[in-house]
Amino acid sequence: GVDLLTFGEVLVSLRSTGPLHLGGPLTMHMVGAESNVAVGLSRLGHRAALAGRVSDDELGEFVLRELRAEGVDTDGVRRDPDRPAGLMFLERRTADLTRVVYRRAGSAGSALDVDDLRGPLAAGPRLVHLTGITPALSDSARAAVTWAAREAASAGTTVSLDVNYRTRLWSREAARAALTPLAGYASVVVASADELDLVAEPGADEDTAVAGLLRRGVHTVLVKLGADGARAHTRDGVVHAAAVPVTAVDTVGAGDAFTAGYLSGHLDGLDLADRLQRAVALGAFAVAAHGDWEGLPRRDELSLITGSVAGTTL
Ligand code: ATP
Repeated sequence: GVDLLTFGEVLVSLRSTGPLHLGGPLTMHMVGAESNVAVGLSRLGHRAALAGRVSDDELGEFVLRELRAEGVDTDGVRRDPDRPAGLMFLERRTADLTRVVYRRAGSAGSALDVDDLRGPLAAGPRLVHLTGITPALSDSARAAVTWAAREAASAGTTVSLDVNYRTRLWSREAARAALTPLAGYASVVVASADELDLVAEPGADEDTAVAGLLRRGVHTVLVKLGADGARAHTRDGVVHAAAVPVTAVDTVGAGDAFTAGYLSGHLDGLDLADRLQRAVALGAFAVAAHGDWEGLPRRDELSLITGSVAGTTL
């Protein structure tokens, strides 16, 4: 089996260098939270598989080609003959402001269903990584994620969940209703500080949300703090890791890189502080390079940017 199985929608992103209504050149990129994590692990030498659906056209072919070039196992990616690729336009409106326009409703990726995941899950991955994006895509995708989480947890497979709240896809209430039960299957939950109450009671603060998750069987709650680094909560207390100081040129994808770093450390059997150190190092690689995943390190490059965990176990 593979080290990590993840599933969700991989979008084709078209990036402008100026206002979109003026036209001009667009560059084409593969993007997606789950594919970012899969690429992050693959670059570090782990066997990562992505399952899901892509369109049966040149755009689907592009996505498959990118994944394969990165060494991601695509055996579980199906081509959907009836649905288009999900698209995302990134409009560089000003030097400081980038706007996002999605064309993803009814896409191939959003039509994911339980049957798409049976084979990949039966292959026995060591880790199953879920995001809070996939259940927002459609009823069938939500059912598929819930099914996979339950199956993996009952088989004793480590499940990780990145809350990854997307305002454009659903309300906080709808997200909470879907994600709170999912968190109960996870042993690792990753969230930004402002996402924690999506897997807890509305308005819950960090300590309350974390206490609830640990009580429900989650082993590790990772709270991403952007340029302030991250905190890891376990039953033994909380560890803080400072961010690695780098020149940030593009912060998109930092969270997925962080998660990939953490999961890589988990697969390598590192202790919590070292897992967190690898996580903040990968986050730094992501923000220090353009693109969501392009700057992620191979294993021999890890030492180029190294995190240091200043925190102590309280
Ligand atoms: P995104 O949604 O853009 O992927 P996120 O909000 O999920 O990001 P962040 O908290 O912004 O995640 O970043 C994840 C991790 O990346 C942080 O915990 C930190 O370790 C690292 N990171 C983020 N911003 C910076 C920065 N400016 N400099 C160095 N490291 C950073």
